[in-house]
Amino acid sequence: MKLRSSALIVLMGMLAFQVSNAQQKFNYPGKKKQPQVKQGAVTDTFTSTNYHEVKEISSKRKRKRAKNVILMIADGTGSSQFFAAIAANRNRAYLEEMEYVGFSKTRSDDNFVTDSAAGATALSTGEKSYNGAIGVDTDKRPVKTVLEIAEEKGLATGLISTSKITHATPAAFIAHQPNRNNYEEIAADFLNTDIDVFIGGGRDNFNKRKDGRDLLKNLKENGYQLANTLEELEAIETGKVASLLSEGHMPAYGKRGEMLRPATEKAVELLSKNKKGFFLMVEGSQVDWGGHGNNTKMIVEEVLDFDHALGAALEFAAKDRNTLVVVTADHETGGFSLNGGDMKTGKIEGRYTTTHHTGVMVPVFAFGPGADQFSGIYENTEIFRKIMKSLRLKKQ
Ligand code: MG
Ligand code: ZN
Repeated sequence: MKLRSSALIVLMGMLAFQVSNAQQKFNYPGKKKQPQVKQGAVTDTFTSTNYHEVKEISSKRKRKRAKNVILMIADGTGSSQFFAAIAANRNRAYLEEMEYVGFSKTRSDDNFVTDSAAGATALSTGEKSYNGAIGVDTDKRPVKTVLEIAEEKGLATGLISTSKITHATPAAFIAHQPNRNNYEEIAADFLNTDIDVFIGGGRDNFNKRKDGRDLLKNLKENGYQLANTLEELEAIETGKVASLLSEGHMPAYGKRGEMLRPATEKAVELLSKNKKGFFLMVEGSQVDWGGHGNNTKMIVEEVLDFDHALGAALEFAAKDRNTLVVVTADHETGGFSLNGGDMKTGKIEGRYTTTHHTGVMVPVFAFGPGADQFSGIYENTEIFRKIMKSLRLKKQ
């Protein structure tokens, strides 16, 4: 042991010598001086008092084919953000129950660093488009999404978000707009589809519009039950549901509390009544905003909330055995890293290099029939193709 550690010290000394050589060569700041960064490289520490119990998910039972897909997107969530939640939850999370892990390359057509619109459009349509694009290609032409194709084939479909349901990530699965800021046009696009369940914020974009239309009235005429609160949502047992739980975005986790998990449970309950299967996208929207704000508390709480909702998806999938669950992100936000922490107390010392998105690969986790397709490194557009293949759907 002693010999080993002294050998290690010699090795580390050699490495340090090499590093300091490299630092001189590239004129990096010296070892004693902290690097000077104009913005970011901010440290923000948070100790999580939240905790959820994680039950073991059995994956041993014999699989059938994938009939249902639950795609869960944690916006702005790279490996560090996912791991921050595992560590904060006392070193245990539902994420660890996923069977296969891969990496997605997130760049958009026009930028090394994607935004959430192009990121979600890649996942929903299999097309790399420009930053700001909602379900359209580089020529701004509409491209059918996996949700629309599933709907046409008779599957049930749903969207859940902790932002406005008209915000970039959910929008890219159902709307076709040249610009992500066309919120009212995006809301109107919901009426062009036969989506079965949607739950999130953004009621304003449906009933307080510049054109004076009341889309909630139209939704009702089209057979949707409206639910403005979680209680109203929970009371619905069958049929189509438009649940807009807040005027704008949902509040942050501290204020909104448990919403993503019960919403996921309810959506799965309703959609799984369709014998042909279903496609559901669930977004943990606000991890991204924690990254933009270099706010470790927000990142940790939002990923924990997301993980708790994932638990509901996995419990269903393990029982059902025809359900593929895919967890990924559209991109990373904050250049977030963990420079320290404590798994016993839930303490996370977060460090940031930027208040914007970054271009790093993001993890893809998969569970259920077809999950093995998701190991490896591939473009984000491949996630669309793998999901389509699992559901035996053809791009139109
Ligand atoms: Mg989003
Ligand atoms: Zn963002």
